[in-house]
Amino acid sequence: MKIETQCLHAGYHAENGQPQALPIYQSTTYRYASTEHVGQLFDLTAPGHMYTRISNPTVEAVENKIAALEGGVGALCTSSGQAASLLALLNILEAGDHFVSTSTIYGGTVNLFAVTMKKMGIEVTFVNADDDEEKIAQAFRTNTKAVFGETIANPAIAVLDIEKMARIAHQFGVPLIVDNTFATPILCRPFEFGADIVTHSTTKYMDGHAVQVGGVIVDSGNFDWENGKYPGLTQPDESYHGVTYTKDFGKAAYITKARVQLMRDLGTCQSAQGAFLINLGLETLHLRMERHSQNADAVARFLAGHEKLEAVNYPTLPGNPYKALAEKYLPKGCSGVIAFSIKGGREAAVRFIDSLKLASLVVHVADVRTSVLHPASSTHRQLTDRQLIDGGITPGLIRLSVGIENVEDIIEDVRQALENA
Ligand SMILES: *Cc1c(COP(=O)(O)O)cnc(C)c1O
Repeated sequence: MKIETQCLHAGYHAENGQPQALPIYQSTTYRYASTEHVGQLFDLTAPGHMYTRISNPTVEAVENKIAALEGGVGALCTSSGQAASLLALLNILEAGDHFVSTSTIYGGTVNLFAVTMKKMGIEVTFVNADDDEEKIAQAFRTNTKAVFGETIANPAIAVLDIEKMARIAHQFGVPLIVDNTFATPILCRPFEFGADIVTHSTTKYMDGHAVQVGGVIVDSGNFDWENGKYPGLTQPDESYHGVTYTKDFGKAAYITKARVQLMRDLGTCQSAQGAFLINLGLETLHLRMERHSQNADAVARFLAGHEKLEAVNYPTLPGNPYKALAEKYLPKGCSGVIAFSIKGGREAAVRFIDSLKLASLVVHVADVRTSVLHPASSTHRQLTDRQLIDGGITPGLIRLSVGIENVEDIIEDVRQALENA
């Protein structure tokens, strides 16, 4: 199946007489005929659902759909994008370990990495992804276990050179984890460029309608965990009667461990209702990503010539530093997210936002409705000036998330608000 068809048909198929739409299995648990069968579930020797914290048929259908869209061997839905980032790393790092992350990532992820994971004894080094390979390689240590980056960084709109980052990660025998939230598999499939693990905040384009918080981790099945750095995957798990993930689950070792060990213990699971809503979003993902990208391209071109603006950042614009990377990694479009800065800094940015009539001021992005945010006074206000600048954020920076309204209405709204700015 082509990806557009997978959006509709992967993960769930109604057999003769069954519901056409994905059913919501609103049940915490599952009934079995024998203690022997339940024992096998606990030993991971028989497939089947045992408890909804670990797996649920509705959630599983969505996991299988997203795994198909990304071209992976398996996926695990989580309660939020934050939980996906955390579990993706905790699955292969423990206290005393270190990882490398690009600095232009979502503010919430910066907090998670620099503050909370640090308290857990896991250290991060932030690197500039645009530096050359030798420079980035200097950040690696003997205890480095992973590299993390975002396909399209939020909110700086920096495009990641996935092949370069994968090459560096693999030189050091560690996997590349890519947060593919903004691109979605419709615009970019990071596994095709060497990424090993993909994460998403499904809260954004996958849902797309601002109704359900969620996340997902997808495993490519390609990384060789048997290089001595990942004992958690290659040595027996005492909590499962000596299961060894790489031996017993082969290519699905990583994603199986994330589910049966971390999701079991940490419990940040997606609900059946939530998965049902994410699935509705996924069914139209390919149509929406195309329209979001077309509209954003037109709005960016309008903004690029405007006298009140200092800079407009959208990868398809002439002269954009990420234009070549976008042509390689995002040939179908660059999503709906544009960043621009107004002359006159913070005050002008506030006047612009308060003058918008159609676009909504929300702490959100990637909705069908055009929305706007001022990162320095909201999502990123907890960051230091140094962190703001490393993340590509200036006081006058505005993030516009272009929706799927008629583009002329969006441009008219932005035009009149700029007049008032
Ligand atoms: C929003 C976001 C997250 C966090 O996701 P939540 O679902 O809000 O927890 C992570 N990464 C990126 C790129 C995001 O935009």
